[in-house]
Amino acid sequence: MSKKKKEQPEEIEVLSKAKKSDKVVPVKLTKDSRFHFRCHPKVRCFTACCSNVNIALPPYDLLRLRKRLGLAADEFIKQYGDIQVLDKTLFPVVTLRMRDDEKKSCPFVTPEGCTVYEDRPNICRYYPVGMATLRKLDAEGGKDEFYFMTREDHCKGFEEEKLWTIGEWRQDQGADLYDEMNRGWMEILIKKKSHGQGKPFPDIKNEMFFKMSFDSDYFRAFVFGSTFLEIYDIPAERIEKVRNDDTELLKLSYEWLRQAIFAEETLKFKEGVLEKRKAQADATMQKVYGDREKGSVGEID
Ligand code: SF4
Ligand code: SF4
Repeated sequence: MSKKKKEQPEEIEVLSKAKKSDKVVPVKLTKDSRFHFRCHPKVRCFTACCSNVNIALPPYDLLRLRKRLGLAADEFIKQYGDIQVLDKTLFPVVTLRMRDDEKKSCPFVTPEGCTVYEDRPNICRYYPVGMATLRKLDAEGGKDEFYFMTREDHCKGFEEEKLWTIGEWRQDQGADLYDEMNRGWMEILIKKKSHGQGKPFPDIKNEMFFKMSFDSDYFRAFVFGSTFLEIYDIPAERIEKVRNDDTELLKLSYEWLRQAIFAEETLKFKEGVLEKRKAQADATMQKVYGDREKGSVGEID
């Protein structure tokens, strides 16, 4: 992998990978597309792709890495992360900070290879394949997922005989699981891009997005240490799963974010909660405005 964040045409959301745009083969591929490739410690270029790369860390990627390293989310971000604001959505996200050496090496690469291999980011799993989403500009506004190949001169893996379909490659690399675990979050980015038209959210909303996306301990404390479970109607069985399984917690955080950011009804309110909230809001309005007409704010002072 070698460097540079790539500018994409407006309608394309690249979901995996960040490479030099001039090395991307401009052909849309499917899961059945075939390619020859093998990467192993005896290739001449071993680890050549592990420096000067822009590796985004969606929530599941960050969770896997920080758990492996035994770090809290904020410790991990401080030690290994950079915060970047995405061009198209203006959301803050985490990327892996390269070392401050001549090659700008990945913090996890050694001459023997990747020291976090089992928990390596999805971008590293996909490589040399990339995945993108083409947002259709038709009335339904659907999307079309496809794959592409990155061929960098230094990568000798293409000279190997082993033949794969892209589907087989993804499965072999464990990318399927990462895609499944990050899909809900990616959909939030795509939705922000299509509905927000590049308009920034207030800082407080961006901070909420960042914290709830990347700090699962914070979200866990929010779920179990606030009135969350008094407000939302979550089946007891699911609550137990969320309590004991970080991946279930992540999925819940995506649903909650969609509700908080886009007011989607992803989580059901408990019976009476909305009525109670409305009554509280009415009481506050009554306290502030008394019997005056709502909206006659100018008369208050
Ligand atoms: S995480 Fe591992 S595979 Fe990915 S760039 Fe770093 S060393 Fe290479
Ligand atoms: S073969 Fe390609 S993927 Fe493997 S180490 Fe070499 S450059 Fe990286």
